[in-house]
Amino acid sequence: MHLRRLALVALLPLAALDCRAWDYPGHRIVNQLALAGLPADFPAFVKTPEAAARIAFLAGEPDRWRNAPDLPLQHENKPDHYLDMEDLDDADIPLDKLSEFRYVFAAQLSAARAAHPEKFAVINPDKDKDHVAELIGFLPWSITENYGKLKSAFSYLKTYEQYGTPEEVANARANVLYVMGVMGHYVGDGSQPLHVTKHHNGWVGDNPHHYTTWARFHAWIDGGFIAKTNLTETELAPRAKPARILEAPAADRDPIFTAVLAYLSATHAQVEPLYKLDQTGALKPGASDAPGRVFIGEQLLRGGEMLSSLWLTAYRKAEPDAYLRTQLLKRQPTTSDTP
Ligand SMILES: [Zn+2]
Repeated sequence: MHLRRLALVALLPLAALDCRAWDYPGHRIVNQLALAGLPADFPAFVKTPEAAARIAFLAGEPDRWRNAPDLPLQHENKPDHYLDMEDLDDADIPLDKLSEFRYVFAAQLSAARAAHPEKFAVINPDKDKDHVAELIGFLPWSITENYGKLKSAFSYLKTYEQYGTPEEVANARANVLYVMGVMGHYVGDGSQPLHVTKHHNGWVGDNPHHYTTWARFHAWIDGGFIAKTNLTETELAPRAKPARILEAPAADRDPIFTAVLAYLSATHAQVEPLYKLDQTGALKPGASDAPGRVFIGEQLLRGGEMLSSLWLTAYRKAEPDAYLRTQLLKRQPTTSDTP
């Protein structure tokens, strides 16, 4: 345990630097694969070449925020990209009891730290200016909350399309594209196994299988490998999986949050296989059918499928905004207004 804690402390500055998942090209691929998975009856304005280019560009937006020096932004943005799932055990918060409410979870985590400080890595305040070291990540919440924003955008778009001006419709459509693109980043993060584990920059703690502890392992999987093997959207697009409506069996928790957790858990199941692949040498640049290339391609496809499904579910489930409708109807001239 002592060694594990030392290792975690040593990794904290690197964690802050390296968690970018897929780099810009990989994130673009996930957003493009998601577009390829949309059904024919999804709104056409999303599928124009200009809109597709904008959605692909926005895949990198939350990483661009990471380049700014402003500490409040870093504090808010960084933890949205990952979840160190093993640390939920240390906090004694089981996955099936995880609250869909971000700040409820943050309070639970804080209480767990206060009750059992010995279970958590010691934080060096000099290396934690943005105060993110005490957090273990908010990825499930960033995806779920962005889904809510997209559903809201589709709701008011549907109302503006009926009762609004052309300018209002154009603005609402621009907002839909923005949220679709930005949320794609986080969904893409969720398909990178090193974004859902405490072993994000090489294996930490007990290491009976002698997995790599190379701190740049994360950066290599994020983009180095994709660039070296020239993995592209064009190659993967024919295998893009169609969007599906996300449903959850139980109603005692937000269904999208539950679906997102299932998605991230499936990614977490790939953490050890990824480390094993590294041991075999398969994560060195290789032929198109090399196991490492197949593995990374599958993760990008999974990300695209989940994103496409979140987009489709948000669109289909969005009811027209009833409050907005009443407001728009009030401003429309009626016959009684006419002299
Ligand atoms: Zn990210």
